[in-house]
Amino acid sequence: MIPTLLEIFQQEYRELRPRAPIAELRVEFYRFANVNNTIRLREGRLLVRISDLLETAPESVLRAIAHILLAKLYRKPIAPAHAARYRQHVASHHLSAKVHLIRQMRGRKRIATAQGQIYNLEHIFDELNRRFFHGLLGRPQMTWSQDHARNHLGHFDPAHNTIVVSRIFDRDKVPRFVLEYLVYHEMLHLKYPVRLKGTRRCVHSAEFQAEEKLFPKLEEARKVLKTL
Ligand SMILES: [Zn+2]
Repeated sequence: MIPTLLEIFQQEYRELRPRAPIAELRVEFYRFANVNNTIRLREGRLLVRISDLLETAPESVLRAIAHILLAKLYRKPIAPAHAARYRQHVASHHLSAKVHLIRQMRGRKRIATAQGQIYNLEHIFDELNRRFFHGLLGRPQMTWSQDHARNHLGHFDPAHNTIVVSRIFDRDKVPRFVLEYLVYHEMLHLKYPVRLKGTRRCVHSAEFQAEEKLFPKLEEARKVLKTL
């Protein structure tokens, strides 16, 4: 039987921390622009994102990645065999050619497109900025995502000062106020940058959440989002 990605992570966790209770894990393949793999511990849950470029990687490579990510997180030594296996795979011609190709494709398509088929994100930003923020927020780069990923509705990327909204919302069956809510949420991320609270990253702070409640039809928008 071929283990799932989640099972691989659970087994590597067991191996690395035989006596610790097994952590709740969420593991997904993710469309990074490069071979990135990330792990985060949030409220006792482990969130893992593996580059989708590794979706077809052999089990031994996925096992190596699981080991490396978990070992790093829990400050355990990384087993040389795993480290070597992963390096070997990334360096292999097959993968570097694939990365190159995908980078090229994504790079070429990475022209910001605020104007969608139905909605223009810049117009929506400007209007919300007037209605809710006294026009005080500087408009970042507004762009529709290149794909139709559902797992990433919208996000604000502070490094590139960009708000990206998933293209699945650029359809006429999506009510405008639902899209407005998504953009409003990301605008709050712009207004309230992620800060450290003790050692924990505070993404949706109390003031963030209080201000989010000011959005009219908030509950309705969230309800519709679940049906899309
Ligand atoms: Zn958020």
